[in-house]
Amino acid sequence: MCGIVGYIGEKSAKEILVSGLKNLEYRGYDSSGIAFKKSDHVEVIKSVGKIKDLEEKLIKENLDMYKIGIAHTRWATHGEANLVNSHPHTVGKVTIVHNGIIENAKELKEELISQGVKFISETDTEIIAALINKYLESDIIKTLTKVMSILKGSYALGIIIEDVDKIYVVKKDSPLVIGIGEGENFFASDITAINMFTNKFVFLNDYDIAEVTKENIKFYKDCKKIEKEVNTINMDVNSKSKNGYPYYMLKEINEEPIVLENTLKSYLDDFSSIPDISKYDEIHIVACGSAIYAGMIGKTLFEEKANAKTMCEVASEYRYKNNIYNNKTLVILISQSGETADTIAALKKAKELGQDTLAIVNVKTSTIAR
Ligand code: GLU
Repeated sequence: MCGIVGYIGEKSAKEILVSGLKNLEYRGYDSSGIAFKKSDHVEVIKSVGKIKDLEEKLIKENLDMYKIGIAHTRWATHGEANLVNSHPHTVGKVTIVHNGIIENAKELKEELISQGVKFISETDTEIIAALINKYLESDIIKTLTKVMSILKGSYALGIIIEDVDKIYVVKKDSPLVIGIGEGENFFASDITAINMFTNKFVFLNDYDIAEVTKENIKFYKDCKKIEKEVNTINMDVNSKSKNGYPYYMLKEINEEPIVLENTLKSYLDDFSSIPDISKYDEIHIVACGSAIYAGMIGKTLFEEKANAKTMCEVASEYRYKNNIYNNKTLVILISQSGETADTIAALKKAKELGQDTLAIVNVKTSTIAR
């Protein structure tokens, strides 16, 4: 998973971006980095390992004059977790942070190399930066629309361009939210990275482009200006902290009774809000990692207590295989973050094939929940 976060405003970007990265730490990462921008100068600082190692590097630099920045925690997919491969990546005038995987990276790289582009990292991300730089024109929305038509795969991108005091943000199949402040604006993979600064958010859809200045945000799709809904969301800022526990796992184990109570309470007050599963002939539970183990317990309970035929499948298989649906199949997706890429893909597939779906997530504002 991992995450991205960006800031443009009047304050020093450093503290805001570091706090954003720390709030994205739970998503897992192997390295991190920030690009700071002031008119035509871009300063990139990266580190392998913990965010606090990056923070130590930042302390030694005088960075307070930078009021624009994009930051990244990396979960390496293309190339090992080292300093060169960590983000941000710069090609020519373009610096980007990227979450996701470019599936046609190899072909694109070969083509760009044959055109004389030189790459320094092994990442798919550097290829995106090279493409944006290649097609860069004064109409940057047109540039980005063109590049998105070439890329295959998933991406949430934060983009800064030399001489342009704006941040551009685009996404496809990776989560991205814009935070609206006063005289300042933000973007992030997840609202928990920025919800201590604002409670107003706009969720980007696939292929949306946001052009962000400190004063305003314009949204585009297919080169046309679009309007987006602004959501006011007040979240418990502490729910993402370790709450005094040394590890998230320990916190989560100890919080099980309270989480169960909170989850069940609303249904016990109002039984009619419980989905009626008796109308389904079969249930597919689809998830990844530890969520699939939770799903297996669910399968046992459905079979034992409800006599409901249930199968449990790992989302990374389910999304690609031929799933045989009965007319009345319910597909239940489980994902703590609500952002698990394979589970999102499985959900989309089940919906495309006309199945009823139900999701169990821990983040109300996540992609799966929305
Ligand atoms: N595919 C990119 C890389 O390997 C981004 C990975 C990520 O989402 O952090 O660098």
